[in-house]
Amino acid sequence: MAEKYDVAIIGGGVVGSAIARELSRYDLKIIVLERAADVARGTSGKNSGVVHTGINVPHGSVKAKFNVAGAKMFEQYCADLDVPFKRVGKVIVALGESEVPDLDALKAKGDANGVPDLEIIDRATLKKMEPNIEGAGALNVPTAAIACPYSLTIALAESAVEAGVEIKLNSPVTAIKGSEGAFEIETPNETVSAGLIVNSAGLNSDKIARMVGVTRWRVWPCRGEYVILDKRVGGLINSMVYPVPPKGGAGLGIHITPTTDGNILLGPSADYTNDSDDVRTTAKIRRQLISEATEFLPGLTPRDVITAYSGMRPKLVPSKVGGFGDFVIEEVPEAPGVMQLVGIESPGLTAAPAIAEHVSTWVRERVSTKTNLNFKPKWSSVHRSREETLSVVDRMIAEDPGYGEVICRCEMVTKSEIVDSINNKLGAESLNAIKYRSRATMGRCQGGFCGPRIVDLMIENGKSPESITLNGGDSWLFLGTTEDLRAESKAKRAKQKAEAEKVEAN
Ligand SMILES: Cc1cc2nc3c(=O)[nH]c(=O)nc-3n(C[C@H](O)[C@H](O)[C@H](O)COP(=O)(O)OP(=O)(O)OC[C@H]3O[C@@H](n4cnc5c(N)ncnc54)[C@H](O)[C@@H]3O)c2cc1C
Repeated sequence: MAEKYDVAIIGGGVVGSAIARELSRYDLKIIVLERAADVARGTSGKNSGVVHTGINVPHGSVKAKFNVAGAKMFEQYCADLDVPFKRVGKVIVALGESEVPDLDALKAKGDANGVPDLEIIDRATLKKMEPNIEGAGALNVPTAAIACPYSLTIALAESAVEAGVEIKLNSPVTAIKGSEGAFEIETPNETVSAGLIVNSAGLNSDKIARMVGVTRWRVWPCRGEYVILDKRVGGLINSMVYPVPPKGGAGLGIHITPTTDGNILLGPSADYTNDSDDVRTTAKIRRQLISEATEFLPGLTPRDVITAYSGMRPKLVPSKVGGFGDFVIEEVPEAPGVMQLVGIESPGLTAAPAIAEHVSTWVRERVSTKTNLNFKPKWSSVHRSREETLSVVDRMIAEDPGYGEVICRCEMVTKSEIVDSINNKLGAESLNAIKYRSRATMGRCQGGFCGPRIVDLMIENGKSPESITLNGGDSWLFLGTTEDLRAESKAKRAKQKAEAEKVEAN
C-alpha cells in the first residue's frame, strides 16, 4: 500500500518551496513533486531578484495584498535562511521631461498600497544619487531591495527536507485522479496518494488545474531575456534603475538591476511564445538591451557582458489583450481540496513568503496539526567563505583545509563549498546544481577554468563520468572516453569501406 501524504505540493519553485518550508513547521506528511532535476530551475531561478515594494500593482488586487505582505517579511526571511539580501533602493527614472508627470501617478499608486518613504526627486538629486545615470527626474523608492532568488528557493527546499519534507526531483505530474482526502497523483516513477494538493506548477499550473477538472485558466508564456554584466562594472550604479513602465506593456520595462553578488542585470525583454520551455537567448535582444540601457547609462559597452539568460512569465492575459492580470490564489468549487496558484508572475518572488503563510492557514483549517520538533528556524545551505573576514576564513581553514583551496577563481569558491554543494540535501546531481549552490562557474570565465576541476571533484565524490549532466535529463557532459570514440569511429570507417567494396564487386 502506497504511503499517504497529508499534502502534495506540485512544483519546486520559490512558491512551492516556501509552502513546503512553512508547512514543515507542523507535524504533517508533505511531499513536493518537481519535474526538473533540481528546484529553482523554472521561473524562480531566472528573474530580476527584486523584492518589489508594491508600487506597480493596482490597489486592492490579490497581487498588491501578497506583494506588500511578502516584502515586509523578506529581510527576516533571508536572514533566517542565510540568503543574500540588500536594501539597495530603486529609482524609477523619467528619461525626458515628458515622462516626469508619470512619476506622480506611480507615487500615488505606491502611496495607496502603503509603500513607505516615496519621494519624487529632480535631475540634480538623481545625479547626486546616481552619478552615471541620465534622467530628467525620478521616483525614489528607498525600501526596494534585492535578494538571490535561486539561493532562496534552494534554502527553502533544503530546510524543508531537513525538517522531514520529501522532495522528489525528476517527477513530472502527468495525471491526477480521485478527490479531496484521496487524490492519486501520477508521475512516470510512481503514484502518490495525498489528501490535499497545492498546485504551484508555475507555467504548467493551468495544465495541473485541468487534471483536476478546472478549465477556466490558460497560461500564456512570455519570455524575458537578460544579459549579465561583469563585476568590473558593478559600481556603475548604486540602486536599481527602472524606466517609467511602458503603457500596456507585458513587463516593467528594461531595467538595470544590481545583483547581491555585485553584477548588473540588464533586462528583461517581453516576448510572448507558444513554448514555455523555450528559454533561449538571442543576439537581437542582447543588442536591444545594451542599446536601451545605454540611454540611462552611457558608459556601457557590449564587452561588459559576460553571459545571458531568460525567464518565462506565466501570464494569464494573452498578448492581444495585454494589461493587468491578477494572481489566482484560491480553492475553486470544481476542485475542492486543491489550492490553485496560477498566474504567479512578478512579483511572485516577493509575494512567496506571504503566499506560503496563506496556504499554510488553508491546510491547517483542513488537517489538525501539532508542532514539528524537527523544524529549524535558522538554516544555511552552503557556507560562503568569500563573504567572511580573513580571521574567520583562517578559522575555517584550520578546521577544514578545503576552505583554503580556491577552485573557482572568478567567484572565489573553495573546494569545501563545492563538495558541500555536490552532497546537497536534495540529492540534485547536475553541474548546474553545484553552480546554483556555490556560484562556481558564474564568473567572467563561465567555467572555462574551474569546470573540469569541478567534474574531478564530482568523480572523487562518487559520481561516475557517464552520469554527469549539465542540467539533468539527457544533457550529458561526456559521450564516452576518447578511446571508446576512437574505436567507434574505426568500426564505422571499416563498415563504410566494406560496403563500398561490396558495391564495387557488384
Ligand atoms: C523575467 C522575469 C522577471 C521577474 N522578476 C521578478 C522580480 O524581480 N521580483 C519578483 O518578485 N518576481 C519576479 N518575477 C516573478 C517570479 O520569478 C515568479 O513569480 C516566481 O518565480 C514564481 O514562482 P513559482 O514557484 O510559482 O514558479 P516556478 O519557479 O516556475 O516553479 C514552478 C515549478 O513547477 C515545476 N513544474 C511544472 N510542471 C510540473 C509538473 N507537471 N509536475 C511537477 N512539477 C512541475 C517547474 O519545473 C517549476 O520548477 C519575474 C519573472 C520573470 C519571468
